[in-house]
Amino acid sequence: MFSKILIANRGEIACRVIDSCRRLGVATVAVYSDADRGARHVALADEAVHLGGPAPADSYLRGDAIVAAAQATGAQAIHPGYGFLSENPDFVDAVEAAGLVFIGPSARAIRAMGLKDAAKALMEEAGVPVVPGYHGENQDPAHLADQAARIGWPVLIKAVAGGGGKGMRRVDDPADFMDALDSARSEARNAFGNPAVLIEKYILQPRHIELQVFGDGHRAVHLFERDCSLQRRHQKVIEEAPAPGMTPEMRKIMGAAAVRAAEAIGYKGAGTIEFIVDGSQDLRPDGFWFMEMNTRLQVEHPVTEAITGVDLVEWQLRVASGEPLPAKQEELTITGHAFEARLYAEDVPAGFLPATGRLAHLEFPGNARIETGVRQGDAISPWYDPMIAKLVTHGATRAIALRALEAALVDTEVAGSVTNLDFLIALTRHEGFREGEVDTGLIARDLDALVAAAEPDPRARALAVIGLAGLADPKVKGGVTLWQPLRRTIAWQGGEALLEVHGPGAARVTLDGTAHEVRWQGDRWWVDDALRRNRIVAHDAGISVFGGRTVHLAPLDPLARDTAGEAGEALTRSPMPGLVKSVHVAAGQAVRAGDRLAVLEAMKMEHSLTAARDGVVAEVLAAAGDQVEAGAPLIRLAEEDAA
Ligand code: ADP
Ligand code: ADP
Ligand code: MG
Repeated sequence: MFSKILIANRGEIACRVIDSCRRLGVATVAVYSDADRGARHVALADEAVHLGGPAPADSYLRGDAIVAAAQATGAQAIHPGYGFLSENPDFVDAVEAAGLVFIGPSARAIRAMGLKDAAKALMEEAGVPVVPGYHGENQDPAHLADQAARIGWPVLIKAVAGGGGKGMRRVDDPADFMDALDSARSEARNAFGNPAVLIEKYILQPRHIELQVFGDGHRAVHLFERDCSLQRRHQKVIEEAPAPGMTPEMRKIMGAAAVRAAEAIGYKGAGTIEFIVDGSQDLRPDGFWFMEMNTRLQVEHPVTEAITGVDLVEWQLRVASGEPLPAKQEELTITGHAFEARLYAEDVPAGFLPATGRLAHLEFPGNARIETGVRQGDAISPWYDPMIAKLVTHGATRAIALRALEAALVDTEVAGSVTNLDFLIALTRHEGFREGEVDTGLIARDLDALVAAAEPDPRARALAVIGLAGLADPKVKGGVTLWQPLRRTIAWQGGEALLEVHGPGAARVTLDGTAHEVRWQGDRWWVDDALRRNRIVAHDAGISVFGGRTVHLAPLDPLARDTAGEAGEALTRSPMPGLVKSVHVAAGQAVRAGDRLAVLEAMKMEHSLTAARDGVVAEVLAAAGDQVEAGAPLIRLAEEDAA
C-alpha cells in the first residue's frame, strides 16, 4: 500500500478519497486553486499545494503542476477523482513518466474508451450488444442524414467525444435533422474541441442501467448494477442500486457483458459500463445495449458501496499498489437497496440554472451518508460544479431506502443559495418513481407538477414571518417566544405581511390577502390548526423555514434601503428585526448623506444605518438597547424644505 498519495481534484470527491485514505493510514496531499484556499478538502488533507487561479485550466487541469506537486511532497501516486484529468490519457502518461502511479486504468484503456464511436466498434468485436446506429468515419451531413433514415426515427445525434450530456440531440422528424446536426456539432466543438458525431437509434422509454466493474489489468469482476434513469436533460438526478425489476438471469447476462467489455481492454481499477435499456417492457436479454464506458470512479459509486459493503476507493488504492483483485465474483453479494440524491445549488423554477452563494446555514441529517465538499459558511462559486452534497441511504428494501431518502432530504437544511432540495423531495414522493416505474423521460413528463410541488408553502411562509418578526428565538429552532402585543407590517426583500399578535403563542399572519392563524408552544407550531413539521432557523442571510417546500426570507438590505431604496426619504427604518446597539445622532443635529445614524445588531452581524440624504434630524425614535422589528422607524429627518 502507498504511504502518501496526491488527490488531483476538489470538492466532495476529494473529501471522499481522503476519508478512505485516513482509514487505511495513507497520508494525503490536496491541491487547490485560488477559489479553494479555505475549502474543506484542503482542511481535511495532511498537506496541500496551491496550483493557480480559479479557472480549471489554471489549476485542476494543470497536469504538469500536479505532477510536480506530487514529486515535491513525496506522494507515490495520484488519485484523479472524476471530471478534470480523470479521463485524460496524456495525463496518465505524464504521471507514469514521472515515476508515479496513476490510480486508475492505463492510458491505453482510457484511449480505447475515450471516443464513443471507437468504443462501440471495440465492444461490437468483444460481443457486447451496442445501440444500433452509425458510428463510422464519414461525417458528411448528407451521409449522416441517410444513415439516420436507415436507422429509423427517432434518432439521437451524439458527440463522439461527448460527456455530461453535452452534444446530444434527439431528432423525431427528418425535416429537423440538419439543424439538430449543426447545433450538436457546434456544441461538441465548443465543449470537446471535436465536432464528430455518431447517430444512434433513439430507444423509446429508455432506462439507464450501468454496471460497476473492477479490473486488475487482466481479469475483472462486476459489482452489480445501478439504475440512473431519473435524469433531467441527460443528467443524473437520483440513482439507485439494484435496478428495479432486475432479475438474477438478466443481471448475470448484463454482468457478463460488462466483464467482457472490461477484460477486452485489459481494464485496471474502477470503471462503469453504461447500458441503455428498453424500458417499454420487462428487462430482457435482447433489450439492452452498450452506450459508453466511464473509465473512472463514478459520481454515484456510493450506492454500489452501500449494497455490496465494498469501499471502492480502498479497492482502487489496493489494486493500484499492486494487490490482486480484493474479491472473486462469487464472493460479491447484494444486501438491501440504496439511493443517492444529488443536491445542487440551482434555481429550479428558473429552469435549473446553476446558482452560487455563501452557505449561511448548512446542516445535514444523521440518518444518511453525506458526501460533501462544503461546510457552513463556504461558498458555492461560479467556477465549478454547483454540487453541495450527495445524500445516500440504504435500507432492507427499496421502499425503506426511498423513505429514508425522503426523510433525509426533509431533514436537510441549506440556506444562502437556492437549491434543488425541494425538487428532490418531490421526486421521492412521485408515485411512479415509488412504484419503480422509472425511465429517462419521467422527470420531463411530470416536470410542471414536480416543480409546483417544490414551490414554497404559504403556511411555511407564515412561519417565516413569525421568525422574521423575532417571535421565534433564533438560537433555539422554533423555540422560546417573546410576547409583543402588536399589529405591524413585517417587510422583507420582495414582500411584506401583516402581523397581528394575539398573545403569547398566537398570531395572525396575513400574506397575499390570505390570513393564517399561527399558534406555537415550545418548538411545536400550528398553522391554520394543522401541526407543522417545520423548523424555523435564523442565519446570516435571513430566516429559513425547513422541512420540505423551504421558505427563505431575506431581510431588507440595509444598504439598498439607505441608498437606492429610500434615497431622499425622511424616515430611516430598521431593515430587519434586531437590537439597536447605538444611536449616533440627536434631534436638531445636521447630517450629510452617508453619515452613520445608528448601528443595529441582527443575524449575528452589525449593520450601520446611514443617512439617505443631507438634512437635519427631526426625531430620534429609538434608543440603544431597544429591540426593534423589521420596518420600525428609527430616525426621522426634517422635511427637505425645512432643512
Ligand atoms: P457520472 O456519469 O459519473 O454521473 P457525469 O458524466 O455526469 O458523470 O460527469 C461526472 C462529473 O464529472 C460531473 O460532475 C462533471 O462536473 C464532471 N465532468 C464531466 N465531464 C467533464 C469534462 N469534460 N471536464 C470536466 N469535468 C467534467
Ligand atoms: P454522456 O457521455 O453525456 O454521459 P451517454 O452516451 O452516456 O452520454 O448518454 C447520456 C444519456 O442520454 C443516457 O443516460 C440516456 O439517458 C440518454 N441516451 C443515450 N443514448 C440514448 C439512446 N440511444 N436512446 C435514448 N436515450 C439515450
Ligand atoms: Mg454517460
